[in-house]
Amino acid sequence: MTLSKRIRQQVIIALIAGTALGCLFGGIVITAMVVQPIVVAALPKSPTPTFTATRLATITLAPTRAATLTSTPFPPTQTRAATFVPATPITTTANTPTPTRTPAPTRTPRPVVQHFLVGRPVALNAQAITPALFYLYGTTGLGDYDVHHGEEFVNPGGTSLFAAADGTVVTAGNDSQPLCGDNGKAVCGRDLSPSSGGFYGNLVVIQLTQTYNGQRVFALYGHMSRIAVAVGDQVKQGDLLGEIGMSGVALGPHVHFEIRLGVNDYAHTRNPILWMKPLAGRGAIAGRFSDSKGTPIRGAIVNLYRADDTFMYSIETYGRDRWPEVDSDEALGENFAFPDLAAADYIVRINNQQFAQRVTVQDGKLSFVELGGP
Ligand SMILES: [Zn+2]
Repeated sequence: MTLSKRIRQQVIIALIAGTALGCLFGGIVITAMVVQPIVVAALPKSPTPTFTATRLATITLAPTRAATLTSTPFPPTQTRAATFVPATPITTTANTPTPTRTPAPTRTPRPVVQHFLVGRPVALNAQAITPALFYLYGTTGLGDYDVHHGEEFVNPGGTSLFAAADGTVVTAGNDSQPLCGDNGKAVCGRDLSPSSGGFYGNLVVIQLTQTYNGQRVFALYGHMSRIAVAVGDQVKQGDLLGEIGMSGVALGPHVHFEIRLGVNDYAHTRNPILWMKPLAGRGAIAGRFSDSKGTPIRGAIVNLYRADDTFMYSIETYGRDRWPEVDSDEALGENFAFPDLAAADYIVRINNQQFAQRVTVQDGKLSFVELGGP
């Protein structure tokens, strides 16, 4: 078998597996992610002040499946956390034994585009009003799932879904048949066979009344149990659209919430974290991790810490799969984003100390952090 044949075969296998998994969730993962901080906190702090927070030009990250998915059970296990190199804190707090440590660098901030045009797809008293962390936009569940094109709000079946902004219903129905696109004949998600029950199942797409830079903005709600609107309906933010279910490819009740820009199809999604107004008192971080040529690095693990060096959680940079792409914001070029963070200072680290940046989160604002790069 030639190498290219093997690659093709692996891609086909990956696509088949990915298609089978699709958009889903596993609540048990949340528990595992909560466990991670304990593991990291137990790691010894190195007293050696060898860390310089500048990028090491000779090291290249190759986030291939082979390199990063050696322990792929999902939820993430302690194995992954235990493989971390013992952390060398970059703060000058009590646990830093020498005063010579180089602080995390602060790059010259550049204007961060702000376009929080939508609210939440569920009421603010719903069980989960922020995206599930185990399967954020562009991530793969450490390789177990397809690259995700939206965010999951994991709530019980029957939870009401509301218009996240004023707009017009442009798609409503079950996507076992094509019904997206301007003529209602494009597939809405992955192209599954008509007998599959669809990918997003019962779904609604709203075209926002507001455009962005002359482009149409769409909000998609997937896996619904009941649809309460029809194509052509005008809706105001907060109007009832239907209820959460698990139709289509879903392991449990949740809403898959997706933002599309320009075109109502699966190839034009954007990270909803960049479009959803943060919760009260909170902001969000978007970031870009790239190699020395400026090319975004796929599938790297990005670690978020509080300013006091307490580990919070990890996410992946946008996905390993090359089809279909998830898209970065044109102005930001981000390849990861953290939602709904309390206004405060944070540290974002990749490869422990190899890349580290401090970032301040402000109430209602999107902050940006850049790691690596030319
Ligand atoms: Zn989803």
